[in-house]
Amino acid sequence: MKQSLVNLLPPATLAAILAFWGLAPEAWVTLPWVLPAVAVGTVIFVQLLEFVFERHEGWRMNWREFATDVFYFAFVFFVIGWLTDTLVNGPLSELKKAWGIGTPWLAELPFLVQTMIVLFLFELGQYWMHRAMHNWTPLWLTHAPHHHVTQLNAMKGFIGNPIELFLISIGVIALLDVDLNALFASFTVGSAIATFAHANVRADPPIFYGFFFTTIRNHSLHHTALSYEDTRCNYGNSVIFWDRVFGTYREGESAIVGQDDRRRLTIREQWLFPLRPWLGKHSNTV
Ligand SMILES: [Zn+2]
Ligand SMILES: [Zn+2]
Repeated sequence: MKQSLVNLLPPATLAAILAFWGLAPEAWVTLPWVLPAVAVGTVIFVQLLEFVFERHEGWRMNWREFATDVFYFAFVFFVIGWLTDTLVNGPLSELKKAWGIGTPWLAELPFLVQTMIVLFLFELGQYWMHRAMHNWTPLWLTHAPHHHVTQLNAMKGFIGNPIELFLISIGVIALLDVDLNALFASFTVGSAIATFAHANVRADPPIFYGFFFTTIRNHSLHHTALSYEDTRCNYGNSVIFWDRVFGTYREGESAIVGQDDRRRLTIREQWLFPLRPWLGKHSNTV
């Protein structure tokens, strides 16, 4: 396939997801398996693209990486998803009802506008949470395991310490009145962008895409192994636009990713990482 067509894969994927939710009959949208099917299907699609359009040989998938990635994907989907619903979204919905607050005007807006408002608003919270993680040591200790990955792949966005994975999932979207299909569209589009932004796929989307959305170029720079200081840019998980607004955008790409001595952490080390100061060592064993 021509490189110019490969470059269109990320925007074409977003367009397909948006078209699906925009055109899907309500009976489909409310089926419990449709949202997971779109989310999982997108990740499988991008993962398969890595085998056809590889970006860096050093990031090539192997069984050890794949097993870890699948474990985290399932963990985020089931455990973190449940925790967020129980501890954040559920109570916020109750609060919304109790206080009689709402945004009915939002549900009146066109589907695409609703979708983008939800996506950009959720990502605004994620941007500041992520930026705080790079500016305050206790939070950095939860986020550092995500930066210790030594290669980028489709599911790498799901890898991290459980505390970080929970913190980054917090948002105020449950306070909004929004169409279900727009809510699901924002969720799956955001997830697709973040998946492409971590994937070993040789696609460099057109300028209009990269102006608003995070690409593998900019996110690999955020993962650079050069130094900790050099990771303090391009915080947007899906929406790089907020980095442009708040002055943390940096142009560039990094093929070498990781932290410190670029040693790959085991799942146990990733989970115990925040305890390192108390365990009194920064050595190879947690
Ligand atoms: Zn980071
Ligand atoms: Zn990342």
